[in-house]
Amino acid sequence: MTDATATSAFATLALAPELLSNLETLGYHEMTPIQAQSLPLMLEGRDVIAQGQTGSGKTAAFGLGLLSRLKVSRFRVQSLVLCPTRELADQVAGEIRRLARGMHNVKVLALCGGAPFGPQLGSLEHGAHIIVGTPGRVDEHLRKGSLSLAELNTLVLDEADRMLDMGFAEVLDAIVAEAPEDRQTLLFSATFADSVRPIAERMLRDPASIEVASTHDESSIRQLFHRVADNEARFEALRILLLKYRPESSVVFCNTKREAQEVSDALNEHGFSAMSLHGDLEQSERDQTLVMFANKSASILVATDVAARGLDIEALDAVFNYEIARDLDAHVHRVGRTGRAGSSGIACTLYTEKEDYRLTKLGEFLEQTLTPEPLPSKSMLTREPFYARMATLQIDGGKKDKLRPGDILGALTGDGGMSGSQIGKIKVLARTTFLAVERDVAKTALAQLMNGKLKGRSFRARRLKS
Ligand code: AMP
Repeated sequence: MTDATATSAFATLALAPELLSNLETLGYHEMTPIQAQSLPLMLEGRDVIAQGQTGSGKTAAFGLGLLSRLKVSRFRVQSLVLCPTRELADQVAGEIRRLARGMHNVKVLALCGGAPFGPQLGSLEHGAHIIVGTPGRVDEHLRKGSLSLAELNTLVLDEADRMLDMGFAEVLDAIVAEAPEDRQTLLFSATFADSVRPIAERMLRDPASIEVASTHDESSIRQLFHRVADNEARFEALRILLLKYRPESSVVFCNTKREAQEVSDALNEHGFSAMSLHGDLEQSERDQTLVMFANKSASILVATDVAARGLDIEALDAVFNYEIARDLDAHVHRVGRTGRAGSSGIACTLYTEKEDYRLTKLGEFLEQTLTPEPLPSKSMLTREPFYARMATLQIDGGKKDKLRPGDILGALTGDGGMSGSQIGKIKVLARTTFLAVERDVAKTALAQLMNGKLKGRSFRARRLKS
């Protein structure tokens, strides 16, 4: 087994250039441990059984594996991913679509229980390359003859332990019986529970086993505590830490809405690209902020705990606690948001003398002795602030206008002359679209969108402030 902490570039793999360049636009520069260990084996055609939790980057691991075997010109179901729940299946389908963005016309279809059957029949008649679904519904389509696995080359069992816990063992057997023998099978499971072994033996051929350490263990998150003299020193300390670590995406947690707004404003005055997230924002402002943070047009989110609750912010490089959280559970939640996807993260907590007692309480709660560390040198303050890599353009058209990400990508890369790698996440909502492009080409892209046509129509567009 290779060193679980080793990271390496995707470019070391024999992946198609269009997959590799798209990974860059997604901001996936290095493989996560599970990817580094499983992808070379998958690309060799081996069956793989891997232990990996959500957040480990497992979806991209099997997604890249199955996309590498896909023959797009052959419009038949070639890959099937089975997931325990509809939510997970939707997430997996979304991630595979993102990974496939550089390839033309890859059709990914989700087939889940709980959704109406009729439209799924229609979609299946139109054809698909990749099916992501829940076992019950996939089995139903097989029995009704609306789905054929005759040309399947890759079968993925995602969260196999959960599917077994949910009583899907027999259904899985029935599905596998419909798949060709010479397929590749990839099994992912959070645990290697005893229940998983028999199914692995039945369904996989000479599998390679991969185990990586949980990404949420303490070793992947470095917690540092810094004692500061007063509130003024607190803000300066935050700047010093930002300038030292230069995280591409980070969250600064504040205890009040007012403070979140003030810190965000002050960071912007000092040349950073920060946005605030708190309960006083309108829903539309909040949505916009989250889109811009997720697509890397804003690198720092300044948030209250309440506003950040339940947010699905992935892959933060750093978390800063502007103060110690009032609620100790909240501290653990804040810190747990970094160090995801197998990458390491840093969590810095600032506090003043007045908060000494809170540090003691936090130490008791965490059952650790928390000792303050000196701040990095003030010379950091002379460094240039960093800006977000991307900018967001908003187009006044969306799904209701039949706009799809491909139309926008096509308009900019075709006549627009931009390269796919300069374009980031494209989020098409009902009536509006948010498009991330590299800052340097934002002007050109905006001009192209305003002067050109999408779906034969002109749409208004603007650059959002970040
Ligand atoms: P998963 O474990 O598949 O749920 O993935 C967790 C998150 O990590 C997802 O948001 C992915 O988009 C992200 N991710 C996967 N692979 C990488 C990578 N190599 N670098 C950065 N982020 C990644």
